[in-house]
Amino acid sequence: MVQYDLVIRNGRVLDAESGFDEISDVGISKGVIERIAQNIDPSDATDSIDASGQWVIPGMIDTHVHVANASDLGRIRGLGLQMVAAAGATTVIDLGGSMDALVAGITARGSGVNVGSLGYLKPGETVPEGRLSPDMILDIVGTALEAGSLGIKLWGGYYPFTPDETARFISTANSLNAYVAYHVGTTETGSRLDGLREVPALLGSTGRVHVAHINAYCRGSILPIEQEIHEALEIIDDLRDQIVSEVHLAKPNFTLGKCDEDGNVLADVVGNCLRLENYEPTDEGIRAALRDGYASTVEETRIGLVLVSGERSVELFDAGNTDVPMSFPVNNATTAFQLTTARNSSNEFVIDAIGSDAGALPRNVNIEQAMRLVRFGGLEPLELVLKLSLNPAKMIGLGSKGRLSEGKDADITVIDPEAGSASYSFVAGEMIMISGRVVGSGGTILTTERGEKTVKATGIPYERVDLTQAMMYAGRD
Ligand SMILES: [Zn+2]
Repeated sequence: MVQYDLVIRNGRVLDAESGFDEISDVGISKGVIERIAQNIDPSDATDSIDASGQWVIPGMIDTHVHVANASDLGRIRGLGLQMVAAAGATTVIDLGGSMDALVAGITARGSGVNVGSLGYLKPGETVPEGRLSPDMILDIVGTALEAGSLGIKLWGGYYPFTPDETARFISTANSLNAYVAYHVGTTETGSRLDGLREVPALLGSTGRVHVAHINAYCRGSILPIEQEIHEALEIIDDLRDQIVSEVHLAKPNFTLGKCDEDGNVLADVVGNCLRLENYEPTDEGIRAALRDGYASTVEETRIGLVLVSGERSVELFDAGNTDVPMSFPVNNATTAFQLTTARNSSNEFVIDAIGSDAGALPRNVNIEQAMRLVRFGGLEPLELVLKLSLNPAKMIGLGSKGRLSEGKDADITVIDPEAGSASYSFVAGEMIMISGRVVGSGGTILTTERGEKTVKATGIPYERVDLTQAMMYAGRD
């Protein structure tokens, strides 16, 4: 009797919520995990996959990707959706995107992954230039929600607001139960440790926020790196009930090369990276760093975006009129390791999740790097699942994802522990990736009640998320 649509057989099934870690079969029907047991008869299933020697984990959820920036409306439309699926993700959050670009991306090159978006706040585009009143801020956050976004992303390191405006954006998002992510930095601080130091004052005693990529603020620009790591962990642990956070594990950072008419770099991050290696924070400094191979930009190839440096990259920089993605090898591996594995005095992880800050950027390495940490002994296998699946699901308030147990969504990532990378992934029981090759299409948009009408009108499938259940509001348990 055919009872299951799919059985994944003989894998090492890992579920961080229950602590389950056994060789088992997983029977899936109608997009849901129906049974986890040994010796499910493959003849009871329409399809079956032998996962012997592999790890079967709840679908990897990446709470920090970039798949649909407004500037992606051009030729790289949707490419990031392919790249995240190739790396084993089943659900992603576009941390500062445009719903129009997301809809266009899913239509053009959807990979079957679930995607939620946070509206980006950029003066002159989504936000008026000049000072913002509380009413204007309420209107801006409401507009993002109505468009279908889960909330907002404050891009402090790039488009800083005053501390008052920043605090108001956070408290307004909180009052609307919207998701709010913050890349630190205001007009008074930067995308550095000083930006993180400012967070307690911005939140007061009640504010809640997702602080993005903690490692990006520990690059040694204010104190020696070890001290920056220590202080960052202290700040985050002190605000444990108010902050959720992630760290990424890739060496290259990504930023924007854009310079003003006098040739001065606009992004704080680019200036910091250039100064670290004694280059001028100007277009000429960028060209020199590109020629020397310290800086890179990206170019699209058949396998996705790749990093380029040298003369070719200077051509691309000039062809793009300086407004091109830039990358510097500034993310410190020690920092990534320490932040990922750090625990507080109650033996809880200080930082909740691993997020790639990738997507359309060529560094979707969550699984590869986390598997290296497991091999080294820095993370136990179930802790890897906690950081890649369960905590990210909790961060978004997705009660039926991030868990591999009966009745939960059949979003599953299979990892080959020898290769240290994802070998298959499934969304709602449908295979979307095999051996790095994306076979899924379309996608499901995660939205809130306020965005439902707009998203429904796009014709793209959607799922309504209740953000009162998100970790920043509901807590960790
Ligand atoms: Zn980012």
